[in-house]
Amino acid sequence: MFVVLSIHWQGKQMTNNPVDDTTLMSEKDYQRVFRRMYANGYFTNHGPLAREFEQELESFLDIGHAVTVGNESLALLIAMTALELRGEIILPAWGSELPARIANWLGLQIRYSDIDRSTHQLSIESLQPKLNNEAEAVCLVEMYGSRCDPSLIDYLCAQQKQVIILAIDSFAAASSTGLVENRSGVTTVFGFGPGKILYSTQGGAIATSDDGLAERCRNIRSSYGARKSVPVMATCNGRFSEFQAGVGLASLEYVPQAIERNHAIAAIYDAAMTDHAVATPLRFANTSLQNGQCYPIFFRGDQRDGLSSELQGMGVELLAGKPSHDDHPIARDLAASVAFLPVNNAAADGLAEKIARHFNNLP
Ligand SMILES: *Cc1c(COP(=O)(O)O)cnc(C)c1O
Repeated sequence: MFVVLSIHWQGKQMTNNPVDDTTLMSEKDYQRVFRRMYANGYFTNHGPLAREFEQELESFLDIGHAVTVGNESLALLIAMTALELRGEIILPAWGSELPARIANWLGLQIRYSDIDRSTHQLSIESLQPKLNNEAEAVCLVEMYGSRCDPSLIDYLCAQQKQVIILAIDSFAAASSTGLVENRSGVTTVFGFGPGKILYSTQGGAIATSDDGLAERCRNIRSSYGARKSVPVMATCNGRFSEFQAGVGLASLEYVPQAIERNHAIAAIYDAAMTDHAVATPLRFANTSLQNGQCYPIFFRGDQRDGLSSELQGMGVELLAGKPSHDDHPIARDLAASVAFLPVNNAAADGLAEKIARHFNNLP
């Protein structure tokens, strides 16, 4: 999803978490995970911790089913297999190459659509020329913590299109319809890998309100954790381990604190960047509660790469957005004008203030 434009901040100390800089977990939390596994005496897949994590996710998101699997690619693969898609799938020309990889792997026909200039997601207007009878499904990608437009989902559901939402950065970000789309015909895929606000070392989940779809997902995942046997096209080793579940449960407890920490960093950037002449923060109308997992900015002119080298001199890594398909003008424009400021622990130790000062001092 991101391209590294420069190098890591050389002076950065390792945080108390050696694996990931987005969660607030410490060594003590990991010790607690191991103690819980020993207390349960269950060391293989989909035991008591995995069941508890799924239940906690279901209640956090307020959805009927959260099916956890080994990582986000498996989650998308299992969701698309369980949906038994045969027709064409429409993908956005911006955000992630993962949907195209999985759709190719499943032998589906892919059609790309450009995105909307303000939301950076597919919109009714951008999709309209692409939506014919062959189109069976549409994949929406929720980048930078921005949630998708509920009226677009209404529109697609009314046309009987399957909607798959790839919630790349949007766990715990709310729209007017809540933390996840809770309606039949809409399937959401989350990833809990490095950089995510909810972290389970690796891991992902499929969230759906559809009982039959959820059971097909569980059966495709593995016999572990299946509630009843149902016919499926294939099975895979998609299991979620007790260790992943234990880390996920601990991380979930820190989500509110992580959001608070992210908002504090965002406030430092906001003070310097709002209405800035060179680059300004991206705001997303459909997101009523931000999780702060990303801080995307939009360059009004062509100063991004120059500024990126200046920041590199300060040891700051500026990340750029990436199109998933080259042929689309809006995605191509955004590729030259969107970047991400460091957030999470990557912005700690006064780095966010230093970047904000640099923007304030730009001529
Ligand atoms: C993190 C994540 C990805 C990874 O996206 P890249 O394009 O590989 O960076 C994909 N899907 C989901 C749901 C994720 O959370």
